[in-house]
Amino acid sequence: MDDRQFRNAMGKFATGVNVIATEVNGEVHGMTANAFMSVSLDPKLIVISLKEDAKMLNKIKESNRFSVNILSSEQQEQSMIFAGQKKVEEKFEFDYLEGVPVVRDSLAQLSCEVYNEHVEGDHTLFIGKVTSLELQDGEPLIFNCGKYRGLKEMEKAII
Ligand code: FAD
Ligand code: NAD
Repeated sequence: MDDRQFRNAMGKFATGVNVIATEVNGEVHGMTANAFMSVSLDPKLIVISLKEDAKMLNKIKESNRFSVNILSSEQQEQSMIFAGQKKVEEKFEFDYLEGVPVVRDSLAQLSCEVYNEHVEGDHTLFIGKVTSLELQDGEPLIFNCGKYRGLKEMEKAII
């Protein structure tokens, strides 16, 4: 089985899209991620998975805190910026939740502290304890088969 075949299979699993953000020495770093899951209700835990060469990995190890921002269908541009798919000249303006940088207008902003970490293959799983959250109404941004999609488009496909 080659890598492309594995990725094609994983891409069949439609997900939302998040931006992970953290701050080290006054510099905010963001990264797009869809490997995310709710883990536990008591305590409130989530997991993210970062590849071994992601700059975000060492930044989270240093700060011990990060945010997960669940993007709306209006935020494909933010996803592309933080996946390195779109270059922008101006510095991105982050809001803050409990001292952790968060992406404005996300459907959910979760501020987390690192609860545990596990190296698995070429990725590190960070378990985050959710310390605070903010919610907004809206439609989610969807990632499926390597493409950005909207829920409305997918609903039409079902009907
Ligand atoms: P970089 O590649 O240096 O940063 C990412 C981009 O964000 C750069 O273009 C940088 O200029 C920009 N940026 C960062 N901070 C700022 C700022 N403050 N202001 C303005 N721009 C800024 N990888 C995983 O490991 N796990 C996943 O779950 C995952 N899911 C993904 C889901 C999708 C839909 C996509 C498209 C990609 C996903 N990736 C995932 C890949 C990952 O997003 C990219 O490899 C990303 O470039 C890795 O970021 P980095 O931390 O190495 O830093
Ligand atoms: P793609 O076809 O590479 O992604 C489809 C699915 O494959 C993803 O949703 C994910 O589940 C899986 N996947 C992709 N790369 C992976 C990796 N390095 N490790 C583990 N699982 C992986 O879609 P694309 O449009 O080519 O993706 C854009 C870029 O973002 C690619 O460079 C891809 O590697 C990266 N990406 C990485 C992850 C991840 O590390 N977990 C997840 C999604 C996308």
